[in-house]
Amino acid sequence: MCQCGGIMKSSEHSIKSVNKANEWAEGLYQQKDLPLHVAQQTCASCGRLGYKVTNSKGELVKRFNL
Ligand SMILES: [Zn+2]
Repeated sequence: MCQCGGIMKSSEHSIKSVNKANEWAEGLYQQKDLPLHVAQQTCASCGRLGYKVTNSKGELVKRFNL
């Protein structure tokens, strides 16, 4: 649940291209570790976004607001 009391909606997707990966985690991953995996949570009430980016080995690359 969000700080505001709203319900968090989860979504997940994979990133295979360098261009897309750079939008999420430029400089934080190695190209050989593609695809990256993004697990995202958005609050349905206030829109607060949080996400975790992991690489193909399941190692955490970036965490934001979670
Ligand atoms: Zn919220």
